[in-house]
Amino acid sequence: MQSLGASLVGFGYIGDLGYDEFYGMDYAVSFAVRMVDGVMDAVVGGPTYTYYHLYRTVNALIDDIGLKASIYLEEMGFKAIPIPASQSVGELKAAFPHKTAATRAGLGWIGKNCLLITREYGPRVRLGTVITNAQLVVDKPIVESECGNCDLCVRKCPSLSLKNTLWYAGMERDEIVDARNCSEFMKRNYNKIGYGHVCGICISCCPKGEKRIRHQSPFTI
Ligand code: SF4
Ligand code: SF4
Repeated sequence: MQSLGASLVGFGYIGDLGYDEFYGMDYAVSFAVRMVDGVMDAVVGGPTYTYYHLYRTVNALIDDIGLKASIYLEEMGFKAIPIPASQSVGELKAAFPHKTAATRAGLGWIGKNCLLITREYGPRVRLGTVITNAQLVVDKPIVESECGNCDLCVRKCPSLSLKNTLWYAGMERDEIVDARNCSEFMKRNYNKIGYGHVCGICISCCPKGEKRIRHQSPFTI
């Protein structure tokens, strides 16, 4: 999948989560596409037009990778369903939570910003998932936060939506973020850029991500 543009890939077991529509499809291929640091670094006080374009471009790439991976699995004789990169099916939730698949597949943990934090790129990734009945050899899940004492995203959040919670596997989203408050804030304040769908502050401010940090210019403060 890296050849298709994925930056990170893992396999996870999801058969215990009880999604009726995916009955018999107990495995998830979870993958991440990294964002471009030059664009993310410019997201300081709110979203930029370039960030919104990147967000949409990466979503399109994720849908493309998910489609190709699903067709490949079907050609191999398995069932496969690609989960849309960004689609809400009500209550600000997706058909299947990409972040749950990603933690099950060992790609990262859920940060205090309620986003997946990868060791490689921090939260500067977007996620894709393919649900399948192919019996994959799964990766080791990540079950607890590695945020430690950091609370930078909590302090930077302009809508005060983040609750300074250290995640562990199985925790409800509401314990970490007031998602409705975040969404309404974005609609009120960032409607001109991205129709109020993006903000990016709690992504750009996060210090995690070894590869991202290693690749920074020595002149970057
Ligand atoms: S997207 Fe913006 S408003 Fe929402 S939690 Fe992150 S920093 Fe706060
Ligand atoms: S800014 Fe700090 S607390 Fe927030 S997600 Fe990143 S590491 Fe975790």
